[in-house]
Amino acid sequence: MHELIEQVKLGELGRDFLRSQGPKSAFDCGQCISRCKGECCGPCPIPKDTWARHQGDVQGEVKDVIDDGAGFVHVVTTTGNCAFKSPEGRCVIYPQDGAPDERADVCRRFGDESHPMLTCRWQDKHGRVRPRDERRRLGRKLVKIQNRTLARLREEVAHSGGILPLD
Ligand code: SF4
Ligand code: SF4
Repeated sequence: MHELIEQVKLGELGRDFLRSQGPKSAFDCGQCISRCKGECCGPCPIPKDTWARHQGDVQGEVKDVIDDGAGFVHVVTTTGNCAFKSPEGRCVIYPQDGAPDERADVCRRFGDESHPMLTCRWQDKHGRVRPRDERRRLGRKLVKIQNRTLARLREEVAHSGGILPLD
């Protein structure tokens, strides 16, 4: 169930990123950001400590902050984007100059292709920019996976009487 929930979160996020691990070392959002506009940075879990430390970096208007009781907050913004996504699509808490990465694991891993929903439409894990046809094909595939995952989650919620089993 945890994996399923994580898949759904990732799907909703559509979201963010690859930037710091192993084979994705050549991955560079900077080469795509003017076109992708940070499409990966939808709502995502934010570690509670990070949220507390970065209140001055919050972008736009926050409608709600939901504590999941597991060390993360889920921040609902008026734009539907992550609270740390700038209007240009950049992550304002992205670590600079060797500073520690305070983002959620899903943000750190995005783009490493270890799961379909951790795959960036704009470039592969090696930093190769995808041509338009490939990007579109991949987008369709990701939407299908997301819809399938959401359907499974709805089924599980229905079978559990409306209460999501977390274990
Ligand atoms: S290149 Fe991909 S991972 Fe980077 S900001 Fe754009 S959509 Fe997100
Ligand atoms: S914390 Fe940064 S990388 Fe993660 S979703 Fe928000 S803006 Fe994107």
